[in-house]
Amino acid sequence: MLAFEMERPASLKEAFEILSRSGPDTAVKAGGTDLLVWMKKNLVHPELIVDLSLIEELKGISFDPSGGLVIGALATVNEVAEHPQVGKFYPALMDAALSHSDFVMRNKATVVGNLCSAVPSGDMIAPCCVYEGVMHLVGPAGRRKVPVMEFITGPRKNVLQKGEIVKSVELPLPKGHSAGCYLKLGRRNALDLAQVGVACVITDGPGEREYRLSFGAVTPRPVRAKVAEDLLRGVVSPDESLLDKVAEAAMACVDPITDVRASREYRISMVGELTKKALRKCLERF
Ligand SMILES: Cc1cc2nc3c(=O)[nH]c(=O)nc-3n(C[C@H](O)[C@H](O)[C@H](O)COP(=O)(O)OP(=O)(O)OC[C@H]3O[C@@H](n4cnc5c(N)ncnc54)[C@H](O)[C@@H]3O)c2cc1C
Repeated sequence: MLAFEMERPASLKEAFEILSRSGPDTAVKAGGTDLLVWMKKNLVHPELIVDLSLIEELKGISFDPSGGLVIGALATVNEVAEHPQVGKFYPALMDAALSHSDFVMRNKATVVGNLCSAVPSGDMIAPCCVYEGVMHLVGPAGRRKVPVMEFITGPRKNVLQKGEIVKSVELPLPKGHSAGCYLKLGRRNALDLAQVGVACVITDGPGEREYRLSFGAVTPRPVRAKVAEDLLRGVVSPDESLLDKVAEAAMACVDPITDVRASREYRISMVGELTKKALRKCLERF
């Protein structure tokens, strides 16, 4: 039987007091959809769980046209999927949210929890990278901001220090007219982790047209396909031969593993196919 204690602080201040006197085997919990599974599988053995779910300061989603979208640490995947400004300005995030597990799980699972888990197949990672998301961290040493790309340092690893928690993730508003999409390849349509995920954003900012591409389940830590993005920069309607070159460049920047869900070779080849498909879909939506 699993034995652990649970604290449910009502404020960030109270949470930090508990975390400051807790030992090394302490875990914070948001929705618990990863943490509790890892505990059942004997992958982690916290003696103390600090459940954040009563902390008002961590709830909600706000949108400010001059800044962007701020997703609180307790905002669930469903809250994000149902937010009107997410559908309008962050369609790649919306697609990813709707591809996450199923409706019931999405009512528990949080976007920030998905990023903190840092599992390479996490559906929120690639969209938060193409929207150039920044994590807001709070802890005993104060506050700091860390880009999502740097926050995740490897499979199930992140930069959080002892006693530090994520307050929110902020996604700047894409400049000018934009379009986005997230495509996920799984073995079935619901309740499956990605074999490959591709997030794509196109913007027509004050300068030239820009493309951003990031992937899920095919790299140990987040990656942007910079070479592929540079090939596309300024191109309004990429033809098939350019899309083939972009797909090659995308395949060259991933480093997937073989696991129960797919082989390394299959994943690499699907990165190429899904990159072209995601670009076509984004261009259609533009
Ligand atoms: C049946 C099932 C289906 C699933 N399907 C999918 C899927 O399709 N796609 C997908 O990406 N994932 C899927 N998952 C995984 C999981 O649901 C997600 O990763 C989820 O978004 C995690 O959020 P959570 O709030 O439940 O995190 P929790 O389990 O509460 O926490 C996860 C980790 O993050 C840490 N953490 C959480 N919040 C904070 C914070 N504010 N500050 C610091 N650390 C924090 C915790 O300590 C823990 O280490 C599935 C899980 C299950 C059980």
